Amino acid sequence: MKIKVILLTIFLIFLLSNTLESHDPTMKLSKNFTLRELTRSQTALRKGIHNEPNEEHLIALTVLVHKVLQPIRDKFGTVSCNSGYRCAELCEILGSSAKSSHCRGEAVDCEAYSISNRELAQWIKDNLEFDQVILEYPGKDPRDGWVHVSYRRDGENRNEVLTAIREEGKTVYKKGLQ
Ligand SMILES: [Zn+2]
Repeated sequence: MKIKVILLTIFLIFLLSNTLESHDPTMKLSKNFTLRELTRSQTALRKGIHNEPNEEHLIALTVLVHKVLQPIRDKFGTVSCNSGYRCAELCEILGSSAKSSHCRGEAVDCEAYSISNRELAQWIKDNLEFDQVILEYPGKDPRDGWVHVSYRRDGENRNEVLTAIREEGKTVYKKGLQ
């Protein structure tokens, strides 16, 4: 009897340690996107931060990939994800809020190599369902900046379009694509 209890305990510890372990970064979230693309961060690497999503975040990332990133990939080819999920510690270091949609696994900063960031933001606006699309810091070069796009998995998506620009050293969000 005692042996059975011990074996069961060992089994449960094994099971628990497995569920607490990191997700495989090569895990595919869709046809063309792996988890790694949505969690990697140079800052996290430099600072030794374990930027690991929990199950809730993983579901949100998967929905985001299917609703936003994969349609962009299917239309325009290679998409580069600069920042997807950010744990609270990483958000803090980057000066962004722990309430950010990145912290919930609901946002990604991306670029598509075959079109400008403005064209990408415009296409998302015209073709996809999303919570926010922000054309971030556009400049003279069409490659300047990036596109932030978020998708709320609770379905309360606002389809809000903004442009982030710097004015007198501060970031200002203007309505629409500027
Ligand atoms: Zn962002």
